[in-house]
Amino acid sequence: MPCTARRLPPRKIYERGDLRNEFERPAVVDRTGQARVIAGLNMNALTATKVLAPTDGGKFSDPDRTLSGQTRAQVALNRLDTLWINTGSLCNITCVNCYIESSPSNDRLAYLSAEEVRAFLLEAKSAGTREIGFTGGEPFLNAQLGTMLEDALGMGFQVLVLTNAMQPMLRPNVKKQLLALNARYRDLLSMRVSLDHYTEELHEAERGKRTWAKTLEGLDWLVANNFRVAIAGRTCWGETEAKARAGYKALYESRGWPFDADDAEITVLFPEMDGSHDVPEITVACWSILGKSPDSMMCASSRMIVKRKGAELPSVVPCTLLPYEPAFEMGSTLADAARADSGMFDHGAIKLCHPHCAKFCVLGGGSCS
Ligand code: SF4
Repeated sequence: MPCTARRLPPRKIYERGDLRNEFERPAVVDRTGQARVIAGLNMNALTATKVLAPTDGGKFSDPDRTLSGQTRAQVALNRLDTLWINTGSLCNITCVNCYIESSPSNDRLAYLSAEEVRAFLLEAKSAGTREIGFTGGEPFLNAQLGTMLEDALGMGFQVLVLTNAMQPMLRPNVKKQLLALNARYRDLLSMRVSLDHYTEELHEAERGKRTWAKTLEGLDWLVANNFRVAIAGRTCWGETEAKARAGYKALYESRGWPFDADDAEITVLFPEMDGSHDVPEITVACWSILGKSPDSMMCASSRMIVKRKGAELPSVVPCTLLPYEPAFEMGSTLADAARADSGMFDHGAIKLCHPHCAKFCVLGGGSCS
């Protein structure tokens, strides 16, 4: 049973002043008919089944003005707290819903080299960045990931690796590298493993047949070797959070894993996201009307590095949610990105001119870590 959801008919939830007819909080109905309001998202689990791209002449067309002529909202980078490295979009599996459409054949984002990443790490170090996050695709498919991890850990960054913990991580040479890194840098290195559900049936409904046992094997290995591990699950099957956490707890106990199912940072549960529906645009007035701060947006504290297939150089993009959008490329260095000043950018600030900005961030509370 794939983890699917359909959206509720339009509703006017934000019934305040001018927003009465303009904002609809994203909400979905799961298979049991239970309505859920989308409250957050994460790279391990974010799903945008059909992404609405900016439309010519319609909403999200003019970087500076919304369709109704109001000034579009922007988000400036406060501090580069987390730098995400997309190691490449290839993955060893194909999930039913993957926000980045990773698969064994999707190489739209090429493998970054360790040398390319090193240049960004040096820039990030100067900027006081705290954390480097590695994502994909499956990061362990990139043959140079071990070198990248060594570089990042050696520079003193906190390092987070998002992985399915399957065969790419379990190859003997990779395990050897990881053991050496964990011996030296255990306090800095964390692995976040995607385990979509605590049952084999629903995990495999999302991630494909024969994915459960291999991921459990990977988790067993990580636990046996004293890695710092978090679990990324989904809450898209109509269960209460309490039931989901109880299910994970029982699984952890049966496997002898020392994870805390009630700690939201160790067992991170993310809602399914659906990017296929119409959303309002975000104006500067929305911050005060919605009681939100631009500083709480992911792009106020992070950037992501990608390298498009065939591109000569990597590119900086504002966040993990816009990996394929050429209009949101900010330059080939972090310094370039800080100066980006045309199109979607204003002196390094991001103009929120994409449906994801509205649906997943301003209205949905998206975060990546
Ligand atoms: S989707 Fe838009 S608002 Fe959200 S983090 Fe990315 S650039 Fe910022």
